[in-house]
Amino acid sequence: MRAMILEAPRQPLRLAELPVPKPNPEQVLIRVHACAVCRTDLHIVDGELTHPKLPLIPGHQIVGTIEAVGESVDKFNIGQRVGVPWLGYTCGDRCRYCLSGRENLCDYAEFTGYNLDGGYAEYTVADYRFCFPLDPSFPDLQAAPLLCGGLIGYRAYRMTDDAEKLGFYGFGSAAHMLIQLARYQGRQVFAFTRSGDVEGQEFARKLGATWAGDSDKLPPEPLDAAIIFAPTGKLVPAALRAVAKGGVVVCAGIHMSDIPSFPYDILWEERVLRSVANLTRQDGQEFLTLAPKVPIRTEVNPFPLTQANEALNALRSGKITGTAVLVVD
Ligand SMILES: [Zn+2]
Ligand SMILES: [Zn+2]
Repeated sequence: MRAMILEAPRQPLRLAELPVPKPNPEQVLIRVHACAVCRTDLHIVDGELTHPKLPLIPGHQIVGTIEAVGESVDKFNIGQRVGVPWLGYTCGDRCRYCLSGRENLCDYAEFTGYNLDGGYAEYTVADYRFCFPLDPSFPDLQAAPLLCGGLIGYRAYRMTDDAEKLGFYGFGSAAHMLIQLARYQGRQVFAFTRSGDVEGQEFARKLGATWAGDSDKLPPEPLDAAIIFAPTGKLVPAALRAVAKGGVVVCAGIHMSDIPSFPYDILWEERVLRSVANLTRQDGQEFLTLAPKVPIRTEVNPFPLTQANEALNALRSGKITGTAVLVVD
């Protein structure tokens, strides 16, 4: 099979010919149709997330069809379409996080496209307990972005409770899906982009943002909560300044540049600053049940598998509107 592999950080991916993997008893073999490109892939390729499996097939927003099942698989059938997310394995009952319903923090977790080979390839294997069935209303390309930007974005969104006025810092893959859920639930979204990104701000308004502007500006009114999707530490004090008393600021990314020091009074009055890590399968099920009801429409920029490096470069330079997706099949 053809695969794009990372042999060492800070190097372009290389097209390789590899044997089709064999599923172990808990795994399914999946013929990959599409795999969306996430900023986390960029952090892995750029060496900002350390200790990936090497060589590695990146990619953790995989849509494909099951071609073979291991002997313990009792949930999926051959020919069924599934999605594979970032959370690829948890211990289930050996760590206190799994035992308390917080498997996203499992001490023994393994992640697709990081510790486990992912979907920048014609085939992949995945533990069936972490695969999701996908609603038929989503074509392959449009389903792929749901699996990380959507799922982990949804976990961050849940942490804002019932905020009516919600700020999104960084209007990429996750934000363009979550704004549709927010509008469906009657919330107002304030979209913050890189300074001068007129196109991004226009995109946000088109999707129903109440206001869109530069991330170094204050919104026209105080917000109840904000989610920071961009990997930029200076947005933390900016978002704290934008939220009202008791407001929540959620950092949704896996990596962020250093946060500059800030005066205590922008955290004072019970403002909350927190991060969100990974996802639980329950987050996934909830979001994938909601997505077709809204219905969430994903804007995708397709690239052939062999142009994974071009897709990553386009994401790095902010040239993607919506989500880049590798079309494999
Ligand atoms: Zn665990
Ligand atoms: Zn991701």
